Amino acid sequence: MMTLEEKLRTFADVDLGRPLSTMTTYRIGGIAKYTIYPRDTLGLSECLRMLEDEKVPYKVLGKGSNLLCSDDPYDGVIVKLDRYFIDTYFEGDRVIAEAGASLITLSYDCMKRRLSGLEFASGIPGTVGGAVFMNAGAYKSSMSEVVEQVLVLRDGSFDWLQKEECGFSYRHSVFQSHPDWLIVGVRMRLTPDDPEKIRSLIEERRERRMATQPLDYPTCGSVFRNPEGGFAWKYIDELGYRGKTVGGARVSEKHSNFIVNADHASAKDVMTLIEAINHDMMEKKGFTLKLEMERFNWPNKK
Ligand SMILES: Cc1cc2nc3c(=O)[nH]c(=O)nc-3n(C[C@H](O)[C@H](O)[C@H](O)COP(=O)(O)OP(=O)(O)OC[C@H]3O[C@@H](n4cnc5c(N)ncnc54)[C@H](O)[C@@H]3O)c2cc1C
Repeated sequence: MMTLEEKLRTFADVDLGRPLSTMTTYRIGGIAKYTIYPRDTLGLSECLRMLEDEKVPYKVLGKGSNLLCSDDPYDGVIVKLDRYFIDTYFEGDRVIAEAGASLITLSYDCMKRRLSGLEFASGIPGTVGGAVFMNAGAYKSSMSEVVEQVLVLRDGSFDWLQKEECGFSYRHSVFQSHPDWLIVGVRMRLTPDDPEKIRSLIEERRERRMATQPLDYPTCGSVFRNPEGGFAWKYIDELGYRGKTVGGARVSEKHSNFIVNADHASAKDVMTLIEAINHDMMEKKGFTLKLEMERFNWPNKK
């Protein structure tokens, strides 16, 4: 009888006991029992079938740039596409990207090919799959504006979903309600434009990010969603949380909707700070802020 590990190794590279802190931009998270890198689409579908048959929990990770993983061990399988699913194919003003491709690299490749539409994404440190899942966006643009179709592996079949079936809205997509659907690739449509114009927009945005975001620390980007008609950072500032610290976690001095891993923060440090903010928010403003980043492997939570 082959063990699960042996079966997975037939179709994927397998790492044992890899800390999630090495797979997330926060540099936080406990040890994952298995991490797998399926080698091709057949291997991917076989691995998922095996995990489902054997009822082994699994989680697809992109670059882990929107996750706060708990400090606990994860007794399941992390599925990573950013080793073998990273190709991009250009065809006129369309691009098909595999889900594990880097969004930043893709934005620059589009610029080189005189294609406009992904400038907003040139500073978002995730994969194409993670960006579709989150409907990632910035500067009033988001993935939903360029996505035409998404290739999904669900129930063992590959289906192209039309954009209208993806349920996109602010930082939301249908994939968030279907954690067992795996995004394999994305077809996007861009607009031909002057590469110098595209480059200067990317540069302008890069400078703005450098000036306003704590890019010199590990983070997961914005912690909270902006509530309707307001900015999370303003409310956090009004409560006096800028610079507040719990253990190794700190509300950034530069941008108060970022909580930075300032010094070997644990997931618990970050969560304690988040809970303190929301406790005071409720007391002083009468509402709480919703998380934009996702918690993974927490008790009572996924
Ligand atoms: C410095 C910094 C700046 C940021 N700026 C922005 C910003 O301007 N705008 C913005 O929207 N976000 C921003 N983010 C957050 C983050 O980069 C985005 O949400 C990004 O889209 C997450 O992509 P990822 O590949 O890292 O996904 P992960 O964090 O790895 O995963 C996020 C979710 O997507 C799911 N997922 C990932 N890949 C797949 C797949 N192939 N199929 C199915 N599900 C999948 C995961 O299971 C998880 O639930 C920032 C983060 C950082 C650290």
